[in-house]
Amino acid sequence: MSASKPPPPTSAAVLSRLPEVRTWQEDFYRNLHAHPELSHHEVATAGAVAQSLRADGFEVHEGIGGTGVVGLLRNGDGPTVLARADMDALPVQELTELPYASEVVVKGASGDEVPVMHACGHDVHVTCLLGAARLLSAARDQWAGTLVALFQPAEETGDGARGMVDGGLTTVVPRIDVAMAQHVLALPAGDVATRVGPVLAAADSLRITVFGRGSHGSMPHASVDPVVLAAMIVVRLQTVVSRETRPGEPVVVTVGSLRAGTKSNVIADRAVIELNVRTFSEASRAATLAAITRIVNAECDASGSPRPATFELFDQFGLTDNDEAVTSRVAAAFDAHFGPRAHAIEAQSASEDFSDLAHAYGAPYTYWGIGGTDPDLFDRALRAGRVASDVPVNHSGYFAPVIQPTLDTGTEALVVAALAWLAQPLV
Ligand code: ZN
Ligand code: ZN
Repeated sequence: MSASKPPPPTSAAVLSRLPEVRTWQEDFYRNLHAHPELSHHEVATAGAVAQSLRADGFEVHEGIGGTGVVGLLRNGDGPTVLARADMDALPVQELTELPYASEVVVKGASGDEVPVMHACGHDVHVTCLLGAARLLSAARDQWAGTLVALFQPAEETGDGARGMVDGGLTTVVPRIDVAMAQHVLALPAGDVATRVGPVLAAADSLRITVFGRGSHGSMPHASVDPVVLAAMIVVRLQTVVSRETRPGEPVVVTVGSLRAGTKSNVIADRAVIELNVRTFSEASRAATLAAITRIVNAECDASGSPRPATFELFDQFGLTDNDEAVTSRVAAAFDAHFGPRAHAIEAQSASEDFSDLAHAYGAPYTYWGIGGTDPDLFDRALRAGRVASDVPVNHSGYFAPVIQPTLDTGTEALVVAALAWLAQPLV
């Protein structure tokens, strides 16, 4: 038996340079937080990303699907790992009093002024992936394979990932073995949380137009009243979850908007219903959308509607369904690196378009959460039973993760997860 100590794990060797990267990352983060850009307008962000990747020796492809950036680091034979960060901010007024708070206001589509904030923490994602890219580039002797650092526009509008696929992503990167992404959440900073299986809901919005026959309010017999028709549909839709869905299966059907008519004595000729649907399996998604379609068409028949209803799907997000083998491998690497700071997470009712990237390759993927909340604040809120009210969540004007240990944790998580493939042959 050799008396010499075993070599440290590869991730420890790669992360030993983190102190050299940390100050640069913190400065980059503060600057990015102060200069957020809305979905599809991530021009300066994409430019800074490309510049950083080039400085680290990546082959850089810009303008994929608009402002998307892909950095490729080919480092010998081995697996190809894609790690993704989203870059866009939200039309939210920043309410923090941080010295690097955003004061950005842009002109909206209708000429009004729109405040902009990184209220979902995508600035954390960008900074962590750039840091991980820098660390892995500096320690190329420690691993083999190809690292794909992908920076995506327009996650918030649900079309950024698809835009990159349509914009030629698979030509630039023909194949990948595994895809991964992370999101900063209202968990204690320093925590890393993941789960096998569905982790984020699928979301679909539907705009349904039903048709009646307009008439004078005094002559209902000459009409097909779309207000009554729409009302019957809204009531009947309540049975999709309560009567058609297995108890315990999480499904949400919300009618968020219902519009018809202009005046009390005019019977309109149409009504527009807007729905939002959240599901956690492709089967329940398909069943729920089919039930909605069936009910709308049947109610139109029942009313004697003169034209078939029209259905328009929009703001669609696929299910984020963590691959079992990939997620178990990453979770084991997290356990080894983070110890008790790594734990399980419940499925979240929020939605993401990251899975569109993995699906374009037919590649397995995994998605995890990192904490961004000051651990002391989180503890106090937990002890007082006030987490829901006292801990700012994503999309709030108060959502600004503490810089550390959030950035370190997100950077370490990406390095550790990527090395679960790159530090050893693909099995
Ligand atoms: Zn968001
Ligand atoms: Zn987000």
